[in-house]
Amino acid sequence: MTECTKTLCPYCGVGCGLEVSPPARPGGKATHRDSQGNPIWQVRGDRTHPSSQGMVCVKGATVSESLDKDRLKYPMWRDSLNQPFRRISWDDALNRIVDRIQTIRRHRGPDAICMYGSGQFQTEDYYVAQKLMKGCLGTNNFDANSRLCMSSAVAGYLQSFGSDGPPCCYDDLELTDCAVLVGTNAAECHPIAFNRLRKHHKRNPHVKMIVVDPRRTATAEAADLHLAIRPGTDIDLFNGIAHLLLRWGYFDTAFIDECTNGFSKYTSLLPHYSPDRVAQHCGIGVGDLETAARYWGEAKRVLSLWSMGMNQSSEGTAKVSTLINLHLMTGMVGKPGAGPFSLTGQPNAMGGREAGGLSHLLPGYRSVKNPQHRAEVEQAWGVPRGQISPQPGRDVWRMITGLEQGEVELLWIAATNPAVSMPDLQRTKAALRQSPFTVYQDAYYPTETTEYAHLLLPAAQWGEKTGTMTNSERVVTLCSKFRDPLWDARADWAIFAEVGRRLGFVEQFNFASSAEVHAEFVRLTRDRPCDMSGMSHDRLRHGPMQWPYTQADAENPDAKAYTTGKRLYTDWRFHTPDGRAHFVAYPSKGLAEPPDPNYPFVLTIGRLYGHWHTQTRTGRIEKTAKMYPNPFLEIHPRDAEKLGIADGDWAEVRSRRGSIRVPASVTKNIAPGTVFVPMHWGALWADNAEANALTHPEACPSSLQPELKACAVQILKV
Ligand code: SF4
Repeated sequence: MTECTKTLCPYCGVGCGLEVSPPARPGGKATHRDSQGNPIWQVRGDRTHPSSQGMVCVKGATVSESLDKDRLKYPMWRDSLNQPFRRISWDDALNRIVDRIQTIRRHRGPDAICMYGSGQFQTEDYYVAQKLMKGCLGTNNFDANSRLCMSSAVAGYLQSFGSDGPPCCYDDLELTDCAVLVGTNAAECHPIAFNRLRKHHKRNPHVKMIVVDPRRTATAEAADLHLAIRPGTDIDLFNGIAHLLLRWGYFDTAFIDECTNGFSKYTSLLPHYSPDRVAQHCGIGVGDLETAARYWGEAKRVLSLWSMGMNQSSEGTAKVSTLINLHLMTGMVGKPGAGPFSLTGQPNAMGGREAGGLSHLLPGYRSVKNPQHRAEVEQAWGVPRGQISPQPGRDVWRMITGLEQGEVELLWIAATNPAVSMPDLQRTKAALRQSPFTVYQDAYYPTETTEYAHLLLPAAQWGEKTGTMTNSERVVTLCSKFRDPLWDARADWAIFAEVGRRLGFVEQFNFASSAEVHAEFVRLTRDRPCDMSGMSHDRLRHGPMQWPYTQADAENPDAKAYTTGKRLYTDWRFHTPDGRAHFVAYPSKGLAEPPDPNYPFVLTIGRLYGHWHTQTRTGRIEKTAKMYPNPFLEIHPRDAEKLGIADGDWAEVRSRRGSIRVPASVTKNIAPGTVFVPMHWGALWADNAEANALTHPEACPSSLQPELKACAVQILKV
């Protein structure tokens, strides 16, 4: 490969390093072409990347096939949704946005303006969007699709440790004695991180792997113990394990006394979680519950890993904190091979959290509710005191209800596809149809969401702009541009900055490059838990770096010491006011919509190997699209027999909100009473197969993350 550029895979939060080279051999012809005849850029794993060490999965290996296909080429406009789009200039497009923003600010105030962004953004995109919305317009109505993905992990870390920030690193995957994977099909959804754990597990017979999941996934297949609990019983399970750890004396008195608060209140809850009661409630055997507690109690290093199965819940924050309780009880945090470790969904959801990319956050893990935090950011941004609202803005579901109620007059969506990924899709789409003005900024056309837009803005692909992304282990990688944007596409941060300048904030958005944006952002992280004030684009050109990375660290000649392998809380001091971690005593409530005689099954939705979210990329790549070409319903043979459904028969899945029709896959991989549908198929890829037509928006009160993972459904043979 020649003219190789180092960058990052733009799919999942594992954050594998890539090397990308042009399609043509030196002096030769293009090697491969995609189905539309475009030459395909060459991609391989970057062996020098500390997080992935040269490994990539099928998505990373084929990603360049999605670079050119079905690109949104120009800004496009239409007055109403039933008209065709027509091409307009960037100048015209930007003026339309600016005019509308000014009109709305005058007549309704800034809170009638909303932006919905994405974990696909680079950190620089996120940061400039925060400055535009929260600093200059004075509304906190910026939310990202991380709300649907990781916000319960954010709130759980904050509740237990006093700050967001996963405390572990990938080296822990190879140092642990006991890995507990909860609500995560990492073998399919975070394959490279899982491979590291799997190899360690295979090589070391003493290492135990426990998987908690209602489905027998590829991840569960690899485990020593699979706990197929009923959906919504995670907290019962964790409290049941704690009950046994306490009974058997597996707790770390010194750590609990010196480093935590709330243990006695927590233990007063545990007598209610006797093994018999928990096993019955969770639908597992008492012996399996005891085995899980024994594996945890006997291990010197316990690592827990989780993703959407925990987070997408109406008690997601409590689930996260209740799992962390087990780590606190046994002193399993801040040491090699041990700790709670959320696996991030999107490639840069972590960077979004650092840049303040949710409606209650400000850059540097600050909160809009904290007056000192607001003052610090206002000063850094050069805006008047009091400019940043103390009220958290609308989370994305409240943007949808705001459209319904006529309270939102401008919705700006970027790099995400809510017409597939939001809960209760029929209601979501009806609300989007009511929007007086929707801007949709994306690299692709069409997507399911373009149908609901008035103005389309072509965004640069990930390889057409330079910026940073942070992966699940807090490693920041510079994603260097390897080609110019196609057609009229522009970088997201540059679009936001141009709107800011046209609104009169010339000084605030006087950025000549994304490196300048990054420099301003990292200054705002100084002395914060996510301190990366020693980083810069120039330094990151020499290789990825893990935070915290302070200015003092930047002077350390051993730069390699900061590439990976660092943990948080190694001194057992936490970010709470008293420096202690908090036990959270939470009695489980269960599902927001439990099954009943009319809707007797629990539907859980999930992801498949080779596919990515709403298929905006992977659906356009021949190899990945073929891996699972069609949607399906997984149903247990006992349930299928009762309903007269044979393998391959079409089934209708109905909830209180909608219905879909998909072929049945009759399998013992799913527990009786629970059914599974993958979430990847929107209207563009299959008829009447949208899993989110069935889901509901009931959310965790702390994280506001909807319970996308479970709703009550009925099944009918078609
Ligand atoms: Fe990309 Fe994730 Fe696969 Fe790594 S594991 S190559 S980041 S999709």
